[in-house]
Amino acid sequence: MNTNSGYNPNKKYFNSEWLDKIDKRDQSLINRAFNALKNSYSPYSNFRVGACVETKTNEYFIGTNIENASLGLTNCAERNAIFSAYSHGYRKKDIRAIAIVSEDKKLTTPCGACRQVLSELLEPTCPIILTNGKELLVTDIIHLLPLSFSLDL
Ligand SMILES: [Zn+2]
Repeated sequence: MNTNSGYNPNKKYFNSEWLDKIDKRDQSLINRAFNALKNSYSPYSNFRVGACVETKTNEYFIGTNIENASLGLTNCAERNAIFSAYSHGYRKKDIRAIAIVSEDKKLTTPCGACRQVLSELLEPTCPIILTNGKELLVTDIIHLLPLSFSLDL
């Protein structure tokens, strides 16, 4: 099983269904996202999130959530990861997948702001891998944000 074939973008997979089957590349991406989570700066929420973008040329860009006392200036893990990839010159056509992970009891899905950002910076069907280490959902931005706002560039 790998993110480029075989996943149903709206189906949640549970440990017994995916742990043994997951593609090594996807597992590596998830592991890197969990490593990024350890660096979370989240003293206000104590809610740690990690993310990792993988390019088609096997470059990795991690991100974690960085909070701020003003709260509104907090930046999410997935935005930090994809901004880093773009900062290094990569664009949507170069990105293979993104993993977004948390330690919560339920799957953590991207907030509305992140969905809007991902809708512009990812290809529509780029795999978005969500996991808390127990459940796994592989989806894409078409399913996370249908009818998103965009300008013709
Ligand atoms: Zn967000």
